[in-house]
Amino acid sequence: MSGPRPVVAPRGTELSCANWQIEAPYRMLQNNLDPEVAERPDDLVVYGGTGRAARSWDAYDAMLRTMRTMKPDETMLVQSGKPVGVFRTHEWAPRVLLANSNLVGDWATWDEFRRLEHMGLTMYGQMTAGSWIYIGTQGILQGTYECFAEIARRKFNGTLAGTITLTAGLGGMGGAQPLAVTMNDGVALCIDVDAWRVNRRVETRYLDEVADSLEDAVARCEKARAEKRRLSVGVVGNAADMFPKLLQMGFAADIVTDQTSAHDPLSYLPNDISEDAAQEMLKKNPEEFIRRSRAAMAAHCQAMVGFMDAGAEVFDYGNSLRREAQLGGYDRAFDYPGFLPAYIRPLFCEGRGPFRWVALSGDPEDIAATDKAVLEEFPDDDGLHQWMRLAKERVAFQGLPARICWLGYGERHRLGLRFNEMVRKGQLKAPIVIGRDHLDSGSVASPYRETEAMIDGSDAIADWPLLNALVNTAAGATWVSIHHGGGVGIGRSIHAGMVAVADGTDLAAEKLSRVLLTDPGMGVIRHADAGYQRAIDVADERGVRLPMRES
Ligand code: NAD
Repeated sequence: MSGPRPVVAPRGTELSCANWQIEAPYRMLQNNLDPEVAERPDDLVVYGGTGRAARSWDAYDAMLRTMRTMKPDETMLVQSGKPVGVFRTHEWAPRVLLANSNLVGDWATWDEFRRLEHMGLTMYGQMTAGSWIYIGTQGILQGTYECFAEIARRKFNGTLAGTITLTAGLGGMGGAQPLAVTMNDGVALCIDVDAWRVNRRVETRYLDEVADSLEDAVARCEKARAEKRRLSVGVVGNAADMFPKLLQMGFAADIVTDQTSAHDPLSYLPNDISEDAAQEMLKKNPEEFIRRSRAAMAAHCQAMVGFMDAGAEVFDYGNSLRREAQLGGYDRAFDYPGFLPAYIRPLFCEGRGPFRWVALSGDPEDIAATDKAVLEEFPDDDGLHQWMRLAKERVAFQGLPARICWLGYGERHRLGLRFNEMVRKGQLKAPIVIGRDHLDSGSVASPYRETEAMIDGSDAIADWPLLNALVNTAAGATWVSIHHGGGVGIGRSIHAGMVAVADGTDLAAEKLSRVLLTDPGMGVIRHADAGYQRAIDVADERGVRLPMRES
């Protein structure tokens, strides 16, 4: 039996595996567990409650061992974090195929999942945890930045200057919120029950200050708002206590949201019990823990509805707080919208979404060179230029150096091919891994988030992410994954991951020129099929075939 140990991905150009197509997943699995990247590496937890990169340390070792011995035409199969087979396929095929947390419909409940997890039969793969393309909090930062920028454009004349955003949850994903708000020139008041998380966000420069009390935090935020100064303030406390208290105090938040781990009632801390007692109860009486956490989420959500009634811009940030609050007995939980239909869907119609890349060399200079290439490739995209400038200035790398931006259909393959050329010409020290998260246009079925309130009512149709995984497998991705439950919890989503590798070879160029069109292309056809005119126009303009519209 092997156990926890510090893990850091290899750097440089010396290969442990047969080629870069295998070396890439080999390094990225390890990178997911780098202590700079992962929230709880000893437990193999990367982020998002209990999102794991491997099921056990034995399974982790077996995956690395397998990749070190695989041939370039072989494919490893991973069943919820455990390697279960290696088959001869061909060089165009993915080197790794993963399936995470999938359960048959009638069994797709948290209770059943926990039972099976306890038996060692599955793990919670979240999104980029179980698909080995987590890059630390920067990954969510771009999506969060885009979302707040869109709110600024729609509601506050293009800037968050002079506004306060109230939110909770400073974990792996939620920790991006304060920086995304200040990048849009606003003020953020962020609550988290865990002092360690709050302080960690200050260390990684995502959060500016920590207040001693709620009153102190409010005073600092109101002063900054009056001076139109950007500022983020963290305060330690339970959101289920502090949101209602702020409402009662008459605190005038302009924007209110939340990113606690509300997708999982065993991860959200109840407010009527000490932390030690909560840990004890988690072990001895999880049903009672869930009852209490749902009651706390009901109070938290009720306060958010109160802020909405008082005139604030309130939205759900994709963590299922509304559903859990409803299960906790609160009946107005769905009065405010999810961020997806409210702000992001028009971008999804263009196949626009996350495009992230990682320098396998480990050298920040490689990312600097790719940053420059992005600006040259898209000289007229002002929003992209602003993001790239701020990201360069304000984002500290975690683990292997990485970058993310949002690109649409027709843009991603151009950049992928450019990176491949840079590797070929020796302008980069080692290959580049290209992937995305699952807050994505064509690889997710998630009725509480990505596919909430689709115009044709197709929110829960999960054929789309499965087709996404199939077509990306056919088109040349280096690893492909099919997941259940990530982001919003068991029973609530099906989604697929995709990662490709620009290793400078002709074969990689062929693969990238296909897979970086099929992947965002799924977003265009999914939204066109649902009847979104923008997606139909994009398909017409950019040459995406829609068979049902052809005669
Ligand atoms: P995480 O587990 O790393 O962090 C959750 C944080 O919530 C922790 O810091 C924890 O201390 C805090 N918390 C728990 N209960 C609390 C309470 N009662 N009061 C105050 N703080 C409390 O999770 P994460 O990766 O940051 O993800 C947060 C949520 O956002 C998850 O539900 C995740 O599924 C969702 N999510 C949303 C998006 C999106 O695009 N909007 C993307 C990924 C994840």
